[in-house]
Amino acid sequence: MRVAVIPGDGIGPEVVNSVIQVVPVLDDLFGLDIEFTTFNWGADRWLADGVGLPEGAITMLQKDFDAIFFGALGDPRIPTTAHGREILLGLRRGLSLYVNYRPLLLPGHTIDLYRENTQGLYVGIGGRVENAGVATVAIDECVYTRDIVTKFVRYGLADATARGRTKVTLVHKANAVPNTGALWQDVFRTELAQFPQIEANEEYVDAFCYKLVRDPGTFEVVLAPNLFGDIASDVGAALMGGLGTAPSASICPESRFGLFEPVHGSAPDIAGLGIANPVGAARSLVLLLDHMGRTDAATALETCLRESMETTLTTPDLGGSGTTRAFMDSVLARLERLGSALGTTIGK
Ligand code: ATP
Repeated sequence: MRVAVIPGDGIGPEVVNSVIQVVPVLDDLFGLDIEFTTFNWGADRWLADGVGLPEGAITMLQKDFDAIFFGALGDPRIPTTAHGREILLGLRRGLSLYVNYRPLLLPGHTIDLYRENTQGLYVGIGGRVENAGVATVAIDECVYTRDIVTKFVRYGLADATARGRTKVTLVHKANAVPNTGALWQDVFRTELAQFPQIEANEEYVDAFCYKLVRDPGTFEVVLAPNLFGDIASDVGAALMGGLGTAPSASICPESRFGLFEPVHGSAPDIAGLGIANPVGAARSLVLLLDHMGRTDAATALETCLRESMETTLTTPDLGGSGTTRAFMDSVLARLERLGSALGTTIGK
């Protein structure tokens, strides 16, 4: 398995580097045969030589790698986040990573949230009318194609079924945003014909967020357009215990290429302090391993993470007194103990 690592900016390198430490132990235990190559794409390079996503990057990634393990992008020196848009949106579009899977790991209950990742309000179509340098009119278009919505909904329904789920909710805002809203509803209702066992329902995004907070147990699988999925997943992250704990996987269903990254951003306010919560990044590695068919290693890592999250070694955002390093060291120690308990290398 060949994995490109893009640590990025702010706390990105802190969480990515601390998480990667567990890989040799997982490799000893489960024989992963995983190879990492790091790329320095991010704010420093952008400021030094103006390069965001280098020429030929997409072709190189498709040819030489199976997945990307990603940190975060965002730097106060680049207030427009132009480099972040070029790199991350460039990777999502260039690699057709149109399915963004964000599991909401709530106590005793997981909601599988799927967010469309390439279209909607993120297509980059729009403009501004300015008067003496002041914007007087600003336009961002929301664009959806039937092709992408159909492939996204189909993947979500099939993946949910494979995970043994039967209840699927479509999130939309068709009462106020009627054109793309109706397209999503029509595709959802059409595709459901292939999944007679699924109990389907539809929710306006505002009502959905309210119910998600009040009664998360009513949801099993959620399909959402780009912006609504982004917002709902932050609400979900709050329910999980904080932004620092939430993972995500951006997948191209056709090539199976995936980009795995924590939901949080570069958090400049705590960058360099050594207290960034590495759980979201570590769980993104769990999703990567799972996607590659290594459920054994994925389950072991998630179990050890959950055990360490019960201790006082968690980072301050979770109420603990630990550091990024101390928390991952405790996860590492648990994995090593797991190895000695098993007495031998397994899974090779
Ligand atoms: P960006 O512009 O890159 O998205 P941001 O600071 O606006 O960065 P986030 O990084 O997503 O947005 O996070 C918002 C706040 O949540 C951070 O400023 C930080 O205080 C907290 N936070 C986010 N991720 C973590 C983490 N892994 N550990 C601890 N705190 C975090």
